[in-house]
Amino acid sequence: MALDPHRPSSVDETAPRSLSRCILSFDVEDWFHAGNLRVPPGHWAEMPSRIERSMDTVLSLLQEYDTKATFFVLGWIAHRHPSLVRRIRRAGHEIASHGFWHQPLHHMTPRTFVEDVQRAQMAIESAADTTPIGFRAPSYSIDERTSWAFDVLQDLGFRYDSSVYPARSPHKRYGWQNSPLRPHRVRSDLWEFPLPTLSLLGRRVPVATGAYLRIAPRTITTWAIDRNLKRGIPVVVNIHPWELDPDQPRTRTSLAGRLLHYTNLRTTRSKLDYLLRRYSFVTIQQMLQAIETDGIVAQGLMPKTKVLGRSAKPIHGKIGEKRERPSTGAAQKP
Ligand SMILES: [Zn+2]
Repeated sequence: MALDPHRPSSVDETAPRSLSRCILSFDVEDWFHAGNLRVPPGHWAEMPSRIERSMDTVLSLLQEYDTKATFFVLGWIAHRHPSLVRRIRRAGHEIASHGFWHQPLHHMTPRTFVEDVQRAQMAIESAADTTPIGFRAPSYSIDERTSWAFDVLQDLGFRYDSSVYPARSPHKRYGWQNSPLRPHRVRSDLWEFPLPTLSLLGRRVPVATGAYLRIAPRTITTWAIDRNLKRGIPVVVNIHPWELDPDQPRTRTSLAGRLLHYTNLRTTRSKLDYLLRRYSFVTIQQMLQAIETDGIVAQGLMPKTKVLGRSAKPIHGKIGEKRERPSTGAAQKP
């Protein structure tokens, strides 16, 4: 990978290059899918869709900065807006999966999760003729209680997940406190790319994603990103297209839900613009490929013994049982 001309000078030059990077990701869902608004799936079809216009803003910004990102597409969106998914792919971005019905995994069983993920895969494949190798759970809902999802994802042929928030969220709805901060292997052939945190007074707090990006001042976010990069921890920035749409409809929900969903919507575009100027980004697929080809794991930077939660099964090689699946390098070529 080429040296990053935008990388801040505070970055430790001795850190492994492919890890001292930012990843840019988006969860492709409409404003009414957001968990904080609690709109039941039975009402989604009646809601005024704004995903196309939000995605116009996202795609034109990325084009302006010649940046590729990973898009975790909700299967429901791929089913209703197939041409949008094709547009994302044609622009050279990575298409990954965000499930179909946007249900947190705490409300699902392994069996209903398999059905949901397979339905999303079918919708995405039929829309964009590509098979996602990456997954993000709605509401970052993979933790100690739902780590069975790693087995399901590996069995379904995924190569990575990016759902774990290694910090407790303020409303305690998600978070896997004390899980690793760096990308790490969670199963023999499945990687986890955790969401970014900042340690403050001995506590990890979420940064640079969704509401945390909108609510925190820009200087705090960039300070947190720089600190992570300096330690060789890649930063997975995550944004929802509806966060760049300040004129979206307002719905009645709890006060906490309103605060989390609507605060500082007008600042997202300029914050994203600033991040695109300050850092250079890669997709998760690109970073996974770099990690595997650079042999960073072999250098012991991600010790396997630290990657497993208590309820997780041990890493095992399934020699001879491995399904055919796309490699990270060739899975998606626009
Ligand atoms: Zn989502």
